[in-house]
Amino acid sequence: MHPATVAARDRAYWLCRISRRLLAALGPQGWWPARSRFEIVVGAVLAWNTAWVNVEQALATLRAAQRLSYARLAALPEARLAQHLNPSGYYNTKARRLKALLAFLRARIGPSLLRLRRQDPSHLREALLGVHGIGPGTADTILLSAAGAPVFVVDGHTRRIFTRHRLVAANAPYETVQAAFMRAFPRDAALYNEYHGLIVDTAKRYCRTMPRCETCPRRADLEAAGIPWPPRVVGHPLTRPPRFAID
Ligand code: SF4
Repeated sequence: MHPATVAARDRAYWLCRISRRLLAALGPQGWWPARSRFEIVVGAVLAWNTAWVNVEQALATLRAAQRLSYARLAALPEARLAQHLNPSGYYNTKARRLKALLAFLRARIGPSLLRLRRQDPSHLREALLGVHGIGPGTADTILLSAAGAPVFVVDGHTRRIFTRHRLVAANAPYETVQAAFMRAFPRDAALYNEYHGLIVDTAKRYCRTMPRCETCPRRADLEAAGIPWPPRVVGHPLTRPPRFAID
């Protein structure tokens, strides 16, 4: 049955089926891949609008310069920080956002990010969204991966993959997409982290701007649903958002 025609209740079946297929094909991801809570927070800001490999390069640059700690990064002038963030793209914007986020965290929870876990997730989310440049994806990444709160992260990879499979409309509001995923799965931070890791890995290996459907583990789902492979042409009509699904 085409996923566009199934009821919302059955969308959960597809989301669960997809997670099992990706887990079987790609294996456990151990997401989020960071050495500390602080790296998670920094990575969450750097991940905006870039591939994960670029985030890893920027983190490696900071680590090599011995700047990847709360105190040392906070003490770094914004212009110097931007230089270190160069590999992640939009480095001036990200330096400004990171500085604002560190100042917020320092004022709200003090020097230890362990205290993130003691925060009420909905209050913390609301406060994070008030920090310069912090959107729902970054706020939820911090909540999920650094604070251990069971919230599903919707990022660009999630939208791309599930739009191509016509389970999500590209212009669906963030919270609507998030709610659909959270209805499909139990409230479990480890599970959400793992699914997010599988989505990121799928996007990295297969579901790129030019999709590699022919070798992708999710190709069978497209075929079972009667959806043509997205053409390897950016802007082709078939790559536009569908007018159904989660919207
Ligand atoms: S590469 Fe193709 S089959 Fe794989 S997730 Fe993307 S659209 Fe689906």
